[in-house]
Amino acid sequence: MPPGGRMGGQYLTEEEKKNQPKITPELLKRVFSYLRPYAKQLLLVLLCIIVSSFFSLLPSILTGKILDDGLLKQDFKALVYYIVLSLVVTLAGSLIGVGESYINTWIAQHITFDMRNQMYSHLQKMSQKFFTSNNQGDIITRMTSDIDGVKTVITNTFSSILSNSITLIIAMIAMFQKNWILALVGIVVVPLFTLPTRKAGKQRWKLTNESQQVNDEVNGILNETLSVSGQLLVKLFGKEKHEFERYEKANRKMISLNIKESMAGRWFMMILKTFTTVGPMLIYLVGGLLMMKYDPDLTIGDISVLVSLLGRMYMPVNSLLNIQVEWIRSMALFKRIFDYFDIPVDIKNADNAVVPESVTGDVVFENVEFSYDKSKKILKDISFTLNAGKSIAIVGPSGSGKSTIVNLIPRLYDVDAGSVTFDGIDVRQLDLAFLRNQVGVVSQETYLFNGTIRDNLLYAKPDATEEDMIAALKKANIWDFIEAQEKGLDTEVGNRGLKLSGGEKQRISIARIILKDPTIFIFDEATSALDSISEKKIQDAIDPIIKSKTSILIAHRLSTILAADEILVVKDGSIAERGTHKELLSKEGVYRELYETQFSKALLEEDTVSELEQYIWGNQPGDEPHEDD
Ligand code: ADP
Repeated sequence: MPPGGRMGGQYLTEEEKKNQPKITPELLKRVFSYLRPYAKQLLLVLLCIIVSSFFSLLPSILTGKILDDGLLKQDFKALVYYIVLSLVVTLAGSLIGVGESYINTWIAQHITFDMRNQMYSHLQKMSQKFFTSNNQGDIITRMTSDIDGVKTVITNTFSSILSNSITLIIAMIAMFQKNWILALVGIVVVPLFTLPTRKAGKQRWKLTNESQQVNDEVNGILNETLSVSGQLLVKLFGKEKHEFERYEKANRKMISLNIKESMAGRWFMMILKTFTTVGPMLIYLVGGLLMMKYDPDLTIGDISVLVSLLGRMYMPVNSLLNIQVEWIRSMALFKRIFDYFDIPVDIKNADNAVVPESVTGDVVFENVEFSYDKSKKILKDISFTLNAGKSIAIVGPSGSGKSTIVNLIPRLYDVDAGSVTFDGIDVRQLDLAFLRNQVGVVSQETYLFNGTIRDNLLYAKPDATEEDMIAALKKANIWDFIEAQEKGLDTEVGNRGLKLSGGEKQRISIARIILKDPTIFIFDEATSALDSISEKKIQDAIDPIIKSKTSILIAHRLSTILAADEILVVKDGSIAERGTHKELLSKEGVYRELYETQFSKALLEEDTVSELEQYIWGNQPGDEPHEDD
């Protein structure tokens, strides 16, 4: 009977006390709604618990018979009979207990299965806002440990409440039936036992808490330093010794706490033993007195049955006293999970969502306003038109709202005011799956799933043939690299594509978009953070797309910008200027400033860009961009 295991513990922490859920009938109803589909199995569990509790108490009751009818009457046959009977019922009780725990586990697993699926599909409906504003760790915890906790609640908490209550009830009935005075004596001594238990338990709980903290610390160090990027940092900074010392220190602290903790258990057992003998002695004393002076019918067997039953009451009483904490914790767990279920789905399919038969790809932003949270307006009055087949480059200082603008097209977020239309239909009216199928995004942060290159390509187009894939990879300028790999298309990209360089990943993700062949292509700083060779390769892959497809590109490289039909200059969430490169330069405004600080620097770094520049300006003599330099 451990007074508080390593997980949880007997007492609520301050934080748990503060976050105690209000246990309302609605909450209980909701919890039980998950049990309802398994009502039949639950009934069976209840039956098993009743029978096995009874069977487990029966040997105690039979000790009276063993003493009175067997030993005292010197009847060997009766003695053997009751002994065998005791053994048989014990065995039967245990067998039923096994069956019970099987059904119980089955129910718990099925309930968590239901909950996990429900949670996963709910989370998938959450908008991007949810994922950016919630810690990824929290989301995963909700999916894993919290729902796992439910399993424990069902297999441990619920079933422990049931089986302990039933055992207690049966034991009490049996005691009162034997002798009500002795039964009362027995009940009076129960607190004598439980009070020290609780006190000792509290001390141990404190230690458990402390060691939990140290344990977290140790885990923190492990997570930090044994991760791919953590190790890289440790190695590059030569911090191996430092990290080892840090780990060793925390490890040592843990050992001493663990020793203290297990010794607290020993003290506790000692106190427990002392007090558990007080109860029986009292019953022997009062029982003896009754038997000798007032109640000649009372037998030695009866007294020993009462002593034995009293012994069987300690554990259930103690468990039930602690169950309150577990109960609150369980309810808090359910509440946490339900809170997640209750987060409204803010971006969902319209009731009569439209699926157009064919699309051209015109995108119109009309007086669009947007904010991530109400305190700060990110986009103010954004209006522009992107005609099918044309391309727009969005430029502007970092944080001005460029990515936000493009994220509104596939409805990663919804506008606060104004509208975004696709082929004349408000994107909020379009079928969400259809809309997202029309949009292909290549962002700076490329994400490849763990798997092969082929897997990653098929993610975009499950029925793509080998030829389709190769053609796309060629267009994305990455086929040569893949062909040179031993396993070709079946090369593993590694966890999140870590085995590939940034440029390689980027080009694979471009191939993925080419395969998807959306109506609108969006390149969100696809070439930033790359070396100039990679950038050139990507540029060569992107250029033909920009020239032939409806596309929006966010860029800070002149070469990319020049390929677009129109340039929008965004500043502080508004469109500050728009026009062609030439028009914008002559305005002497934001664009000119960007050009002088950002673009021309890039220009100096790259011959390729100046080649392009030359090409453009070469066709328009007299319009030299550097005239003011
Ligand atoms: P840009 O693409 O021009 O660099 P963004 O569109 O990414 O700018 O961001 C515009 C502003 O919105 C920035 O101030 C940024 O901090 C803020 N922002 C971007 N994403 C989020 C988000 N998920 N939640 C809250 N604020 C955000």
